[in-house]
Amino acid sequence: MTHIMQQMTWPEVRDALQEVKLAIIPVGSHEQHGPHLAMSVDIAGAELFALKLAEKTHPLCLLTPPLNFGISIHHLPFPGTLTLQPETFERVLLDVAASLHAHGIRRILVVNGHGGNQHVLNTASVKMRQDLGVRMAYTLWPTVGGTGGKLSNLLKGRRIGHACVLETSMMMHLRPDLVRQDALAEGELQPPIYGDAATSGIDGFVYWNELTANGAFEGAPDATAEAGQIITDAALSKIAAFVTRFAEVEVDAAGVMPKVSG
Ligand SMILES: [Zn+2]
Repeated sequence: MTHIMQQMTWPEVRDALQEVKLAIIPVGSHEQHGPHLAMSVDIAGAELFALKLAEKTHPLCLLTPPLNFGISIHHLPFPGTLTLQPETFERVLLDVAASLHAHGIRRILVVNGHGGNQHVLNTASVKMRQDLGVRMAYTLWPTVGGTGGKLSNLLKGRRIGHACVLETSMMMHLRPDLVRQDALAEGELQPPIYGDAATSGIDGFVYWNELTANGAFEGAPDATAEAGQIITDAALSKIAAFVTRFAEVEVDAAGVMPKVSG
């Protein structure tokens, strides 16, 4: 039986800890996803993917409850978006890590469904190693599935990354109940402020309605559940292979750095 903490008793967790090597924390966001995807898709996808990963790598992983909120300040102009501040998001992760540490967990894999969380996952991974001696790896799992091969025609020349052909396809596969098939919309992209060829190497914060008027990037009308399955299956096999390796990686005490040899 997969180790799903939300469904376990404490004696079951105690027994599972005998064989568990790492914890998986699914994180996502609650934010607008264009006219055609529900607000919870980032966490809904991450949670389901994390469950598949825990099943595939059983008994190595203990699956924690999901963190439904993420860093979505850039989506706040759209009704319904709820966000944490970066400091809060990091603090929650560090508190969960400290709790897991108290139970003997020294390796954590964060399965992330939202690109806006990535920069704080990086700082959290520094603090966990330094302050707790916990190794934290993190993955923006939809990007691991690869965008070549059968999918290259679907993605070619399109701005992807949010409520786009890629994300809509994944949701059609994983959670079709969160996709409005009758509202699939092309992104209404706005002239770029940063990050185009003319401003290469320059970046800055923008609110998402400055990028796309309807909140979507490109290609959702061409999304298919088959494409979503290809991406999900590829990500699952790559990340499962990582989990088996990560389970064996050495851990150290808080503040202890690896020795320089020679
Ligand atoms: Zn998303």
